[in-house]
Amino acid sequence: MTTTVERPFTAASFEQYLDEKKLMGSHCIHCDANYLPPRAICPQCYGDQLEWVEFSGEAKLAAFTSIYIAPTAMIAEGYGRDNPYLAGVVELDEGVKISAQILGLDARKAEDVKIGTPLKVEFVERGEGEAKKMALAFRVE
Ligand SMILES: [Zn+2]
Repeated sequence: MTTTVERPFTAASFEQYLDEKKLMGSHCIHCDANYLPPRAICPQCYGDQLEWVEFSGEAKLAAFTSIYIAPTAMIAEGYGRDNPYLAGVVELDEGVKISAQILGLDARKAEDVKIGTPLKVEFVERGEGEAKKMALAFRVE
């Protein structure tokens, strides 16, 4: 893992890193806990000495659901009632969990999707023009 220090531990910084195709969270120097999305204060030891840490992006599927009623941005990509997608919670190798879109598995065959499936981070460009940003997803390796 590599670390940097400059940016504040905010959702905006987290998204800025996503735009750079980096999965960044915070790491508590005092008690060694990792946070994703990042936190500025450690809820475990109340320490305020945190540093940025880049996660490997290696993960396992922890929970999932098939989405048939899609939000606007996903409808724009062709998802919806006839083309559902998977939303899930993944557990990274570093032990933190985060929710993201799951790619490479069939949302119409949820019974075939297995908890514990190995996944790898993928950055998906979503939206147009000013609204364009990188969304977090994980894909079956
Ligand atoms: Zn701590």
